[in-house]
Amino acid sequence: MNVDLHTHTTASDGRLAPHELIAAARDAGVTLLSITDHDTVSAYRATVARAFGPLHLVAGVEFSTTWRRAGIHVLGLNIDPTSDAIIAATAHQQSARTQRAVRIAQRLQRCGIADALAGAQALTANGAVGRPHFAQFLVDGGFVKDTTQAFRKYLGAGKAGDVKQHWASLAQIIDWIRDGGGTAVLAHPAKYGLTRTKRLALIGEFRRLGGEGLEVISGRQDPQITESLAASATAHRLLATCGSDFHRPGQPWARLGLPLTLPAQCRPVWDVW
Ligand code: MN
Ligand code: MN
Ligand code: MN
Repeated sequence: MNVDLHTHTTASDGRLAPHELIAAARDAGVTLLSITDHDTVSAYRATVARAFGPLHLVAGVEFSTTWRRAGIHVLGLNIDPTSDAIIAATAHQQSARTQRAVRIAQRLQRCGIADALAGAQALTANGAVGRPHFAQFLVDGGFVKDTTQAFRKYLGAGKAGDVKQHWASLAQIIDWIRDGGGTAVLAHPAKYGLTRTKRLALIGEFRRLGGEGLEVISGRQDPQITESLAASATAHRLLATCGSDFHRPGQPWARLGLPLTLPAQCRPVWDVW
């Protein structure tokens, strides 16, 4: 069994269209796959969660939220993408994203940069504008020489484009996932730059709020991290998941079909599905 429960498509910031991702995953030997785009389930409009030959697809999503001012991600796995709860959740997150983009554009306007919203939107495949799109717009418009300078002058901390993102709360995200029939999983807990103490506090709070799973393996990772996260999952009686966080070909650390083997002490999430 080759499991990959964390991947992205062109529905968010991935390079492959949903059908291309499924074909690539199948070619790579994946037998249990989830497409988990950022704050959207639109990949599942084109693709019904089902079996594709030996590959079984379960519906998923990756929600953004904040915890103690740190940006964190929560996977909703085995959700019903047509449920009221998931529709409400993705609509809320998309409007948070749009409102922030509008504010950034207004503030850039005050710096004398016109039409940034339309310009940034034109650079997206799906209308989901983020700061990288504004950065590219500023480069293309000749306002800065490269995207690094775009962040340093306009978009980074303390600059005009530094607008707080109003994502739904962690508790709300977990409730939506559960109401949508899914399993809420704390994504890549070792990738938030938190101290070990803070990470353990996050995992404990996630569990208390009703979260049920921990992404014990995220792509190619240090075995010590795997061990530490497996211990946390066991201590908090959280189900374990694994995923590549695939975005595009050519990234060997997040490749489809990576052998992602959970430590024996873990209880895999698919045991309860
Ligand atoms: Mn991404
Ligand atoms: Mn993530
Ligand atoms: Mn991801």
